Amino acid sequence: MGIPKSDILKYALQNAASFNGKADKNAVMGKLLRENPELKEKIKELAAEIAKTVAEVNKLGIEEQKSKLEEIAPELLEKKKGAKKELPELKNAEHGKVVTRIPPEPSKHLHIGHAFSFIINYLYAKKYEGKCILRFEDTNPATAKKEYADSMENEIRDYLKISPDKTIIVSNDMPKFYECAEKLISMEKAYVCFCSKERIREMRHKGELCGCRAKSKEQNLNEWKNMLAGKYKEGECILRLSGDIQSPNHAMRDPAIFRITYEEHYLQKKNYCAWPLYDFENAIEDGSYGITHILRSIEFGSMRVELQDYIKTLLKLPKQTVVQYGRFNIAGAITQGREIREMIKSRAYIGWDDPRLVTLIALKKRCIQTETLHELAVEAGLSTSQTNTDFTVIAAINRKVLDPKTDRYFFVKEPQEITVEGAPEQTAEIKMHPTDTKRGVRNYKVHDKFYIEKKDFEAAKENELVRLMDCLNFRKKGKKLQFESLEYENFRGKGKKIIHWVPKEHAVKAKVMMPDAKKITGLAESGIEKLKEGSIIQFTRFGFCRLEDKKETLFWYGHE
Ligand SMILES: [Zn+2]
Repeated sequence: MGIPKSDILKYALQNAASFNGKADKNAVMGKLLRENPELKEKIKELAAEIAKTVAEVNKLGIEEQKSKLEEIAPELLEKKKGAKKELPELKNAEHGKVVTRIPPEPSKHLHIGHAFSFIINYLYAKKYEGKCILRFEDTNPATAKKEYADSMENEIRDYLKISPDKTIIVSNDMPKFYECAEKLISMEKAYVCFCSKERIREMRHKGELCGCRAKSKEQNLNEWKNMLAGKYKEGECILRLSGDIQSPNHAMRDPAIFRITYEEHYLQKKNYCAWPLYDFENAIEDGSYGITHILRSIEFGSMRVELQDYIKTLLKLPKQTVVQYGRFNIAGAITQGREIREMIKSRAYIGWDDPRLVTLIALKKRCIQTETLHELAVEAGLSTSQTNTDFTVIAAINRKVLDPKTDRYFFVKEPQEITVEGAPEQTAEIKMHPTDTKRGVRNYKVHDKFYIEKKDFEAAKENELVRLMDCLNFRKKGKKLQFESLEYENFRGKGKKIIHWVPKEHAVKAKVMMPDAKKITGLAESGIEKLKEGSIIQFTRFGFCRLEDKKETLFWYGHE
């Protein structure tokens, strides 16, 4: 094929438009070669044309570059922030009056599915300049823990960048739940049932009532007071809602709304022994705090919606507009809290932050950025059908976010020491970023001894010209490595492999936690000692990594 002049212009404009008006020759070349590998045969001619075009493009102002690109290849023009995908309008939404809620249960660590739901609810409140309420659903004393509540609060505010307008601790509303229960009993819409678990299950299944429902409200009120006073044992009785025992929706068949447990609650201590169950608690909290919209994944199901709406009707509480979006499915990821807890217990996982998990603590350690989660959440919120994804999709979005803002460093796994014979003493200036020159350089005094990866060492062929990135060129001659020159200009067109390295005099040990939860050890350049814990960098030709533990020089691998 001939030299594709129009493609060169197109890519030079695109590159310039995304990098402050300055196109990079190598980036344009790389793109063309990836698309048309056969162009390698005409590399000199191609390079000359690219150099000419890039020089012309770089003379133009950035606005001119963009309008030209829009003319010849509008699909390459980076979309402006305002043109980003937007959440669709909500039913029954009034500007300034939308109230949504984020209801985590502090009994586990949050995972990506929770994050999407929280972000969507938050973004909708923002979209209508309404309010978003954070609500800790901690009415199961056996599982609610301070540790989880604290980490959730941090993750929601700091990682997901959600600032709720109000925070509610559901267990502080116990008097309200008791009042509602008493009201229902007085209305003969709830009763205390002393039947065994097995019998209740069987009778609900058959659609038959037990004798407890026939009791007078006076007797039920009396037994309810005994329940609150701790006169019954755990499991001895429950408070049931009078629903419809023959409803095709089994959730409506006189479900339990209160149960007895003597576990100590992490906040309320031993103050209560009768605790509300999920649907009862949810219906009352949604109804009594002015929530207008509930956005949730379709997997929640409509069975519980009917039950919760029935409870609201009985208690004369307002109902909410429920909007369901498609399930977000992450291939191969375990998200069930119970399952994860068991895997940690059996040591199959190293903890809630195991790199194989999609919990928020794991994702944060794997360099996943807030912007990435927001972008994915909006996408999920737009779809009513199931979205299937896996970590590579998350990584692809994240790479675009991280690439422009991440410094580069060298890390050599399986280090092989080499001597480049005849190499002069020099100060190597290595770019912190391949295209963003504003990020500057790092300097190392180097001579002839370096570490490179064993894999790169073994791949070097006889007489092949190899470049140590931003340092020098050498050629393999028999068992020796012979210095050739310093400049990149002398390498271009003659060699193919540019490899990363670590100077022998400035090498430090570093460990990396890999995605399979195994740690590897290698050598990194000493510049990493300046990094702060939590910094994200890119180890060239390896991947994005986050410094987890400075003392141990332990990084967590994110993705390529
Ligand atoms: Zn009964």
